[in-house]
Amino acid sequence: MERERQRGRLYVVATPIGNLADISLRALDILRSADAIFAEDTRVTRALLGHHGIDAKPRALHAHNEARAACEVLDALEAGRDVALVSDAGTPGISDPGARVVHLALAAEMDVVPIPGASALAAALSVSGQQGPFAFLGFLPSKRAARRRTLEEWRKFPHALVLYEAPHRILDCIADLADVLGGARNAVIARELTKLFESIHACRLADAYAWLAADSNRQRGEFVLIVSGAPADDDDHAEARRVLAALLAELPVKSAVKMAVTITGAPRNVLYAAAIEMERARER
Ligand code: SAM
Repeated sequence: MERERQRGRLYVVATPIGNLADISLRALDILRSADAIFAEDTRVTRALLGHHGIDAKPRALHAHNEARAACEVLDALEAGRDVALVSDAGTPGISDPGARVVHLALAAEMDVVPIPGASALAAALSVSGQQGPFAFLGFLPSKRAARRRTLEEWRKFPHALVLYEAPHRILDCIADLADVLGGARNAVIARELTKLFESIHACRLADAYAWLAADSNRQRGEFVLIVSGAPADDDDHAEARRVLAALLAELPVKSAVKMAVTITGAPRNVLYAAAIEMERARER
C-alpha cells in the first residue's frame, strides 16, 4: 500500500530543453508533492517552478557536490521522504549530473522512478530521418587530437552517431567530423530545439562547415549533431565516395558517376547508389 511505504522514492524528472511548456503533467505533480527537490542549478529550477506556480526551495546537486549531495538524498529516502531530481534542462543523467546518485540509490535498493520528458537527444533524433540503432557519444573531447582519436574509434560504426556540441566548438567539431568520417555522410544539425530560433538543417558532412560559416547566427545556441553511419563498403570505397562527392558538386549524377568510376575503379553500381543517396541528402 502506498501509505505503508517506509522509504521514500527517488523521482528522476525530465524538464524542458527550452520551451517551458514541454513538461509533463506528471512531472509537475511530482515537483509539487516531493518532500525535497535536488537541482543542478537551483536558480534555473526555481525559475521553472515559479513559472508553474510551485513554491519549493530546491537544493543543489551538481557535478561538484554530487558525492555529498547524494548522501543527503539517500538520508532523505531512508527517512521516508520522496525526492525529485532535476537538471538544468532535459533528462538528468544524460550528459548531466544524476547517474551517481541513481547508482547509489539502486545499490541501496531504493525505488528509483523515471518521470520521462524532454531530452535533446530524443528530440533531435526524432527529426533526423535516421532509422534504427544509433550511438550517443554525448560531448566529444574538447581538445582536437583527443576528439579526432575518439572519432577514429567510431569511424566504422555502421549506424548513426549522435553528439552534443557547444557553440564555441561547433565549427571545429564539424571540420573534424567531415575529415575523419568522410564528407559523403549525411548530417543533421539540430539547433536551439523548442526555442525561438530552432533550426534543423540536413546536408552532407562535406557541406556542413560552409553552411555554418556562412552566417554567424547559425553558430549560436545549443546543438545536437547526427551523422549517418559508415557505409557497408566503407573500407573498399571510402576514397571513391570522396571523389564522387567532389564531382557531384560540379556535374550531373550520370557524368559524375562515370568520371568517378574512371578515376577510382570502384564499381559503377556502388557509386551510382551512393550518388543517389548524396543527391537525396542534398535535397532534404
Ligand atoms: N540532459 C540534457 C538532455 O537530456 O538533453 C542534456 C544536457 S547537456 C549538459 C547540454 C547539451 O545538450 C547542450 O550543449 C546541447 O548539445 C544539448 N541541448 C540541450 N538543449 C538543447 C536544445 N534546446 N537544442 C539543441 N541542443 C540542446
